[in-house]
Amino acid sequence: MLDILRRIIQEVNAAQDLEQALSIIVKRVKQSMAVEVCSVYLADSDTQHYVLMASDGLNPEAIGRVRLAPGEGIISVVVETAEPLNIDNATDHPRYLFIAETGEDRYHAFLGVPIIHHRKVLGIVVVRQHAQRRFEENEVAFLVTVAAQLSGAIAHAEVIGAIQISGRGLLQGNNHDGRALEGLPGAPGIAIGTAMVVYPPADLDAIPDRTITHIDAEIATFMAAVKSVQDDMAALGLRLSPKLSVEDRALFDAYRLMLGSDTLINNTLDRIRTGSWASGALRETVNEHARIFDEMDDPYIRERAEDVRDLGRRILVCLQSGKRNAPPYPDNTILVGEEITATMLAEVPGEKLKGVISARGSSSSHVAILARALGVPAVVGAGDLPVARMDGRELIVDGYLGKVYVQPSPALRAEYDRLLREEKQLTAGLAELRDLPAITQDGLRIPLYANTGLLSDVASSLNSGAEGIGLYRTEVPFMIRQRFPSEEEQRRVYRQVLEAYAPRPVTLRTLDIGGDKELPYFPINEDNPFLGWRGIRITLDHPEIFLSQLRAMLRASVGLNNLHILLPMISRVTEVDEALVLLNRARQELCDAGETIERPRVGVMVEVPSAAYQAEALARRVDFLSIGTNDLTQYLLAVDRNNPQVANLYDSLHPAVIHALVQIIQGAHKQNTPVSVCGEMAGDPAAALLLMGMGIDSLSMSAASLSRVKWVIRNFTRTQAQDMLAQVLTLDDANAIRICINTILENAGLGGMIRGGSISGKHSLFH
Ligand code: PEP
Ligand code: MG
Repeated sequence: MLDILRRIIQEVNAAQDLEQALSIIVKRVKQSMAVEVCSVYLADSDTQHYVLMASDGLNPEAIGRVRLAPGEGIISVVVETAEPLNIDNATDHPRYLFIAETGEDRYHAFLGVPIIHHRKVLGIVVVRQHAQRRFEENEVAFLVTVAAQLSGAIAHAEVIGAIQISGRGLLQGNNHDGRALEGLPGAPGIAIGTAMVVYPPADLDAIPDRTITHIDAEIATFMAAVKSVQDDMAALGLRLSPKLSVEDRALFDAYRLMLGSDTLINNTLDRIRTGSWASGALRETVNEHARIFDEMDDPYIRERAEDVRDLGRRILVCLQSGKRNAPPYPDNTILVGEEITATMLAEVPGEKLKGVISARGSSSSHVAILARALGVPAVVGAGDLPVARMDGRELIVDGYLGKVYVQPSPALRAEYDRLLREEKQLTAGLAELRDLPAITQDGLRIPLYANTGLLSDVASSLNSGAEGIGLYRTEVPFMIRQRFPSEEEQRRVYRQVLEAYAPRPVTLRTLDIGGDKELPYFPINEDNPFLGWRGIRITLDHPEIFLSQLRAMLRASVGLNNLHILLPMISRVTEVDEALVLLNRARQELCDAGETIERPRVGVMVEVPSAAYQAEALARRVDFLSIGTNDLTQYLLAVDRNNPQVANLYDSLHPAVIHALVQIIQGAHKQNTPVSVCGEMAGDPAAALLLMGMGIDSLSMSAASLSRVKWVIRNFTRTQAQDMLAQVLTLDDANAIRICINTILENAGLGGMIRGGSISGKHSLFH
């Protein structure tokens, strides 16, 4: 069964469009279950009708015509109960609806199973037989497994289908405006622009579709790549042939044959001649060939699929090594990728980057944080996005709602243009607050700092009126290199940041790699990276890396004395003690060498539940605490901050997080240690007020959030914030807390700043 399932899923995933995907499903399921009919009905999201989309066994004329309204027919019973329905004689069922054109009255046995994706019944897969019988338990289980496995693939194919409808026509796409691609809000704002797909090197499946005009040049490039792989294989074969057995040599011969084969090469050339670029043509040909092998019953022949893919990868590496093959970034670039990395973001010229869409990630993953730092609207976790087909298309990125519109209609585009203009006006209005302090109407002053990690956004943080840097993520300069930066390279980067802000404070966090932040040159392979070797755990295990970073920070601060050092991922006091020993050692070494280095202020990040419970003990050891609500939320709620599947459970307004924050702040204050929040929560205007009610001493956020937070602080009082907290602390559910805060803010006349204003009235800066 597993084998059958694997094959069906492979075929469905490779399908060109929804129609093809569904016809594969009905054909294969009918075959495997030896039934007389297999059909799929899908929900039409506009009308809520269930439409017969594919069938093997029913009258083909009925496909696309039979539409069942809510409550109509046995199908609707499956929809309503969202459970399988197994009956021996469908015609006896009280909800049975006779539909002459399907010809299904000949069949008695009926098994219908819902296809559910993200809690919604997308459709129903039905099998029928003439005989009057109930389907066996194992048959039901098989169909349930098929439906569960296929729901994601169908959702994906549905999206591709919607896009292709517009692609085939005049690219107007007004027939699917209502069907935005759903993702998660990554960074607030709206962007309209042209998609530029970016992808990791040497990954055939990541290659996007792209068209070219210079066909001869593309053919020459492709043939040169093939020749280069042929030469490599010949050289390899020669070098290894004395050591190889006859069978092993046969493998090399098979590779050489394939490379010389008409099919692999000529099919690719044919595709290039139709205007596809070489990499995309190669991807299609390799997938086509590999699929043929995949379908073979003989396991040995099936293995050959991997050879074809391997060969494809080798040719691709050659294609990519000569030149980048990437067209120039469009003026209004919307960067699109399966997984957008810091490097990919950093490579786009700042003035061209308008929006970001990542198929993976969630609102608190680092791509989202970086986008927010750069003030670029982003949608993340758009898992159904057919990335490879996006290149060059016009897109709207709605970073407030986490939605993407592909090839929008002129009407929708005009509506978003209007929103964009309104947003610019709002930002311009807020800009007037730049040089004013964040002070409540009853006189409480809350310093607002900026979070950064890129040198290029230090300037934008300065312009936003930040009073210093509350979190400089030093892993970013580490990520955009091919090796660890030297001590001097680091010193120069840190010096620029410290100098730009002096005499205002700058908090440099020591290296926080691990988790989802991997350095290309320092791979860490773990089953549970977020519970593994991360942050301070790595740097304490590698004192040479840690000392070099600490020395670079200390040397960068000479004469400025505005350096604060922050230690990430602390989960026990001994880690702080050990880090302080190394810091003293680094300073002593520099002083011994004749430099005059002031002692920096040192802080600990509270982002792990154990640190929350030990806030007071930690506060006793250092000069300040900084709460990392991104990780604290993830670890307290046991919800991976990067996993879109559970993103709806990730909520910094969960009562457990709120109570932990209160406890941390109280613990720090018992030691008279100031405490700040540098997680994304600080940049949410409403949450910032709640934190103020708890007695937070300062807030650090992305530069783009600063003016909004300042505005709400200046329009609220400390007493109001304390009252709000008192009410929130009586509630035991995140949604109730959200409603309570929203109501209080609406009543205080701050609703406008909490909502971004929108077409649907649903835009919210405060998700
Ligand atoms: C946090 O965890 O809240 C934080 C600020 O650190 P990072 O997002 O870099 O993990
Ligand atoms: Mg963190």
